[in-house]
Amino acid sequence: MPGFRSALPASDRIVFPFTASPTACQRRPGLFSHEETSTPAAQADIEHAKQLCAGCPIAAGCLKWALSHPSEARLGVWAGTTARQRTQLRRRLADRLGADWVAVVADREDRRRAQRLAARYAPLTVHQTRIVRLDRDLNGPLPRRPRRLTSDEQQRNVHRLLTGVQARKAG
Ligand code: SF4
Repeated sequence: MPGFRSALPASDRIVFPFTASPTACQRRPGLFSHEETSTPAAQADIEHAKQLCAGCPIAAGCLKWALSHPSEARLGVWAGTTARQRTQLRRRLADRLGADWVAVVADREDRRRAQRLAARYAPLTVHQTRIVRLDRDLNGPLPRRPRRLTSDEQQRNVHRLLTGVQARKAG
């Protein structure tokens, strides 16, 4: 989205990623709330929390959010980092991208979001349009599906189209 600048503050444009199922830190918040200077038991929890973050599907987005929201992510483990590590990462980002690094990251996020939306709503190519018409002519209209198809359903649709094509060739 070149030239576009949202009226929102940069940090508000970096949103916490969505997950359909609860993350490890939601299931076991106690593990994620320790300070680095705490007891050995707390240190073990921190290491455990870091391991859980390593397998978290939204770790990259979580880290971006935590770095750009220093007050909200002031304490505890976020995306496998401690408060001290996040402070170091913020310094490195400022060195690399400038003092306004949150805005730079937010702009990139906006551009990626716009590209994803554009890809989702991109018009079909001529070739794709022909395949859709051919399928509709051969098999009738598809039922409306407001959700993403499973791979089994996709396979079934490919089979349905190929069967229709073969039937037309034979006919
Ligand atoms: S990466 Fe973020 S959301 Fe995922 S478990 Fe760690 S702190 Fe929670």
